[in-house]
Amino acid sequence: MAVDPLIELHGVNKHFGELHVLRDIDLTVGKGEVVVVIGPSGSGKSTLCRAINRLETVESGTIRLDGRPLPEEGRALARLRADVGMVFQSFNLFAHKTVLQNVSLAQIKVRKHAREAADSRSLELLDRVGLAAQAPKYPAQLSGGQQQRVAIARALAMEPKALLFDEPTSALDPEMINEVLEVMRQLARDGMTMVVVTHEMGFARSAANRVVFMDDGRIVEDRPPEEFFTAPRTERAKDFLSKIL
Ligand code: ADP
Ligand code: MG
Repeated sequence: MAVDPLIELHGVNKHFGELHVLRDIDLTVGKGEVVVVIGPSGSGKSTLCRAINRLETVESGTIRLDGRPLPEEGRALARLRADVGMVFQSFNLFAHKTVLQNVSLAQIKVRKHAREAADSRSLELLDRVGLAAQAPKYPAQLSGGQQQRVAIARALAMEPKALLFDEPTSALDPEMINEVLEVMRQLARDGMTMVVVTHEMGFARSAANRVVFMDDGRIVEDRPPEEFFTAPRTERAKDFLSKIL
């Protein structure tokens, strides 16, 4: 596929002490692409995501966003975190702020928008994830699925170039998983560039342009979902799929 690259990793390595958690990672995510990352627990999926918005530093290799190396510190780093939004398994909303305030806060602090403009944009985004009516409530008054949709709205409020999702539905009760995946599918259709770590293989099949399979810190397969799921090339991927499907 001839798309402009947005996220590019070349020869990336990372250790935690003796543990080699990212091994010679090469990965390119094009603008508008949806890449689903799967693999066993401990294979380095979260570290990979965290490296892309520099929540983790790496020891060697290069990571570029839109052609530029990731900034090291200061304001440029804060902007990077806004440009590459991240949605975690634990929704990480501010418990003592309302839903509306949660979505508006970084628009005001990081993007320097006026409160009124931020709030009005927040309401639009909450509407987009089906939660406009919940704006005055506090996170604890919402279900897990609703809280995760607020977290997605909050990330979108930064007008990110890309969104990283690290197991966004793993902490949810089964009946709430689909409402979150549906919001993510809609984002994908709207052309958002997304890297999604998930065990939801239905989502991978229906929304991903590529599936990246990680094992022991390496990218072992990187292929379109229909190929990966019908004919995984490696024994490790076959073994993994046989356990989760
Ligand atoms: P995954 O998301 O695929 O489960 P992670 O990227 O979280 O894998 O972790 C990869 C490996 O690195 C695991 O063995 C994990 O225990 C280890 N690890 C992750 N974060 C840290 C850390 N901050 N300090 C030490 N080891 C870590
Ligand atoms: Mg993880």
